[in-house]
Amino acid sequence: MMVQYLALKQQAEGCLLFYRMGDFFELFFEDARIASGVLDIALTSRGEHGGAPIPMCGVPVHSAESYLARLIRAGCRVAIAEQTETPEEARKRAGSKALVARDIVRFVTAGTLTEDALLEPRRANVLAAVCTVRGAAGIAACDISTGRMELEECAPEALGAALARLGATELVMAEDSGLDLPEAAERSARAFDSQRGADRLMALHGVSTLDGFGQFSRAMLAAAAGLIDYLDHVGRGNLPLLLPPVVRAAGAFMAMDEATRASLEILAASGGGRKGSLIEAIDRCITSAGARLLAEDLAAPLTDLAAIRARLELVSWLHDDPLLRGDLRAVLRAAPDLGRALGRVVAGRGSPRDLGQLRDGLREAQRLQAVLAARADRPALAQALLPALGGHGALIDLYDHALVPVPPTERTNGGFIAAGYDAALDALRDAAGNSRRAIAALEARYREETGTPSLKVRHNGVLGYFIEVPARHADRLMAPDGGFTHRQTMAGAVRFNALALHEEASRIAEAGGHALAAEEAHFEDLTARAIAAREAIAATAAALARIDVAAGQAERAAESGWCLPRLSEDTALAIRGGRHPVVEAALAARGERFVANDCQLSPRDRLWLIGGPNMGGKSTFLRQNALIVILAQSGGFVPAEAAQIGLVDRLFSRVGAADNLARGRSTFMVEMVETAAILAQAGERSFVILDEVGRGTSTYDGLALAWAVAEAVHEVNRSRCLFATHYHELARLAETCEALSLHHVRAREWKGDLVLLHELAEGPADKSYGLAVARLAGVPAPVVKRAKAVLDKLEKGRAATGGLAAGLDDLPLFAAALDAAEEKVDALREKLGAIDIDSLSPRVALDLLYELKREL
Ligand code: ADP
Repeated sequence: MMVQYLALKQQAEGCLLFYRMGDFFELFFEDARIASGVLDIALTSRGEHGGAPIPMCGVPVHSAESYLARLIRAGCRVAIAEQTETPEEARKRAGSKALVARDIVRFVTAGTLTEDALLEPRRANVLAAVCTVRGAAGIAACDISTGRMELEECAPEALGAALARLGATELVMAEDSGLDLPEAAERSARAFDSQRGADRLMALHGVSTLDGFGQFSRAMLAAAAGLIDYLDHVGRGNLPLLLPPVVRAAGAFMAMDEATRASLEILAASGGGRKGSLIEAIDRCITSAGARLLAEDLAAPLTDLAAIRARLELVSWLHDDPLLRGDLRAVLRAAPDLGRALGRVVAGRGSPRDLGQLRDGLREAQRLQAVLAARADRPALAQALLPALGGHGALIDLYDHALVPVPPTERTNGGFIAAGYDAALDALRDAAGNSRRAIAALEARYREETGTPSLKVRHNGVLGYFIEVPARHADRLMAPDGGFTHRQTMAGAVRFNALALHEEASRIAEAGGHALAAEEAHFEDLTARAIAAREAIAATAAALARIDVAAGQAERAAESGWCLPRLSEDTALAIRGGRHPVVEAALAARGERFVANDCQLSPRDRLWLIGGPNMGGKSTFLRQNALIVILAQSGGFVPAEAAQIGLVDRLFSRVGAADNLARGRSTFMVEMVETAAILAQAGERSFVILDEVGRGTSTYDGLALAWAVAEAVHEVNRSRCLFATHYHELARLAETCEALSLHHVRAREWKGDLVLLHELAEGPADKSYGLAVARLAGVPAPVVKRAKAVLDKLEKGRAATGGLAAGLDDLPLFAAALDAAEEKVDALREKLGAIDIDSLSPRVALDLLYELKREL
């Protein structure tokens, strides 16, 4: 057995091996140690190998899914080795001591799940493959639980942002790609071949050219090849549902890097869960598929005005018509997860229940189509979705006819084909039913014949049908010519067989066997029909999800009086009465009111420097404006009274290091790396929020960096920017930067207490209220008093020396300083360019080197 085990373990390529033994999956050696740790189950041992006992643990087959789920969540990958023959077959093949043949039937990995029990309903499950071809990174991503597949190409530097958007649960990459992705599993570079990728995609979709799907680059096709190869490997040659690939065009989506996504808590709060995230605050989708699409929308806000307007128009239509919205949402409530049921069916893991879900889902889609079709005033997007919602009449009829109303999830016991669908099956069921009635009659007869009213005919998996009497009456049946044969003696009861019973039981078994085979054949046929229509069904699922998202956005907007944003091609950002949806909800739960604030950025006033006390609401204000931009460009209403948004191409959000202490790297280093990324990438169409940049280092360093970063954003990047800081000294930037203005969050001291108004006002902050905040936070009075004394001393000192920013008076302007630096570099460059190296003697070359060095 160990020889077989070790050979399979070899094939498992580093996955944990679930080795089927009877009713258990067993794990051995290191696998057993890992699994018993993760699953918190007993580690035992068995036999020995190389002189030592073999560590072992096991999980029951019937509950394997929940154990698998935990292992996958813990980052493990699992190979499942099933018995591929019965013990009888093995004995027939190789004698009484034969070992049952086993084979790996499937790999279970985070990115290749289809089972509902293993998937999060409201989150897409993305598998991505990446590689590089001639300096370009290719990404192929799919969600096999719904079949969506997309390809994109980007510069290797932009890969991080692209992967952050995708949020893949599993990542594979070509081993020679030179990419720094520690979480990716490496695969042979040979699998990532662009020609092979094109061939496989064409074969998969039965086309002779991919032109109909879009224009694919070599990097995209190579990544697609790697992805399909991996799916092939994981499914042991069984490919899951893959729809025609969609090209993700660079620039079609607002770029946001990972740090921005994390700091804005779009799909997950900083703690990791959905609670406290943007999506939790706005998700009013009825269906899981809708929630998944909403997450996708929020992760990839659009940059195309027409596309955004089309979504907004649909939301607006549903917002203004609560009755229609209610009707649509009522229909959606009855719709099962069409996409995921289809994913399982195509992957060969479908159950009768899944077919039932397809039937019910398609029927609800048809209803939705009828509701929409009855409205003449439907907007363009609703019109475009209309055809996809229908067209499945024949399939629905077939399934209606063929399946029972609620088919079981298990198909091995049959019972899912409806009566009246197949006359032969009905006859078999009748025969079995007749025999069951005959057995009931036999029981009555045997009771009478033997004079034993407590006699029972019973059934179990081992003996089949048998007669059971209490031990004290057993003698009556033991008589040699009584017609009963003894089978088993139990404590208190004795079991018998009888010829007539045996005959009826055989009839039941035979009819049952035939019926099962017939149902199985129907299942295959019904499954094949769904597979043949898979693209149309997937399109229906997508249309349902889009309508659910739009109706959910409308519902959310109506709940809290949100407004329809207006989008334009300019670089304005004018938000009146903006709110932060997450903070507002948290405050509402405590019975507190959120104070709405305006934000008015324009080319002439594009950088707002925001001061004011800690806890005054600076971060909240910064983030709410970024979230409003995301919501608007993903096609939803926004929490504001009015919003005019010039399309944002890139969004950056950075938080000063002190807020991020949990991270591993030196926090200040992280802050600076992230700030560098903004300065390198942000442009005039970008929107940048910087929260307390420079806080992670000493006061002088911090102030100097904050100063220079603000200047650079203002002069060079020229982005729209909200910059929160507690350095009063930065206020002086307003003197030199013409498009920068000063703002602060208001606070008052009232009877010695600090009152934070959370209200934004123009002008610099008057003072920092640090001590008042400390008192508010419960710092003991003597400490606050002592701090006050220290502060007075410091302030006296500042008055005498001119303060922290004294000496900045003769600081040249940022642009002038830049020019000066550039010039010098250029002089040197010119000189270098003019040198003809071949004509230099070693001596002259050395002199020249000295001269250049001196000039530098
Ligand atoms: P800062 O960045 O100035 O330190 P925060 O933005 O973190 O302040 O806000 C601190 C707290 O103040 C928030 O957790 C919230 O409870 C409250 N708050 C912030 N903004 C508002 C607002 N506009 N209206 C009401 N409460 C607010």
